[in-house]
Amino acid sequence: MRQPIVGALVLFALAVTQATCADAPKLCTQEDLIHLHQEDIGETGGRLVLDPPQQIAESTISVDLDLENMTASSPRHFVYRVDGLQHSFQKPVELVRFSQKNAGDRFQYHWKYHWMLGLPGGRHDDSYVYALPYQKGEHHLVSQSYFGSFSHQKGTPYEYAVDFIMPEGTPVCAAREGIVVNSYGDSTVGGNDKKYEFCGNVVSIKHSDGTYARYVHLQPHGNLVRLGQIVHKGDRIGLSGKTGFADRPHLHFCVTVPLDGYTEKSMPVVFATEVGNLRELRAGGTY
Ligand SMILES: [Zn+2]
Repeated sequence: MRQPIVGALVLFALAVTQATCADAPKLCTQEDLIHLHQEDIGETGGRLVLDPPQQIAESTISVDLDLENMTASSPRHFVYRVDGLQHSFQKPVELVRFSQKNAGDRFQYHWKYHWMLGLPGGRHDDSYVYALPYQKGEHHLVSQSYFGSFSHQKGTPYEYAVDFIMPEGTPVCAAREGIVVNSYGDSTVGGNDKKYEFCGNVVSIKHSDGTYARYVHLQPHGNLVRLGQIVHKGDRIGLSGKTGFADRPHLHFCVTVPLDGYTEKSMPVVFATEVGNLRELRAGGTY
């Protein structure tokens, strides 16, 4: 793919976790929600621009530059924070500008980026008791809980996630109050394959302690809330499904904070259940 051209700008946007395969149909990618593009400035310069995000209010973007004979207006590795609850992003935002250093010498630049939901810095309020993320009176089987061997392995960002098995179309309810910072419901595909990783329909809610709850695999157009909406605990926020990396219809729930644009961490939460407040739901248990 990389074809350096002497005396011209060479530009590639690569989301690092995204495998590229010439034969694969275009699937959902990281770039669908947060998109950067490059613009030339004359013959010897350029700039990297963030398109206004439409479906996500807060995210942390890590940008890495690879420069040859070029100066840039930012460090080679930098983090940009999309704080859409504070500022509105109606227009493209210039993130960095490049220009040729020594006239007459070969120059080029490559760039890549990766982003995570939310802004860093949240500290989880461990005294908060979450509701189960569905309607009162319903019971659902937990197929995978903390440190689950299928996709919640210890040491990974989703080590403290919980999967609830539920038929498609089951109302999903907010486990905790907050503000909707991501509502994406356009995906119609999913399956037991990591290639669907970015195809999961999702509602993300920011809590007052700066952490983020994620409700994933919602059915196509099954999102019932919009960006910026304030939701109360127990409100219906979506309809469950199997979009994204899902071996069967279920709801993936986790609470996270990003560390930078590449990594995030999840955290254990306490759920109120019919048998009391539980620090951990057991895989194989019904609650
Ligand atoms: Zn899961």
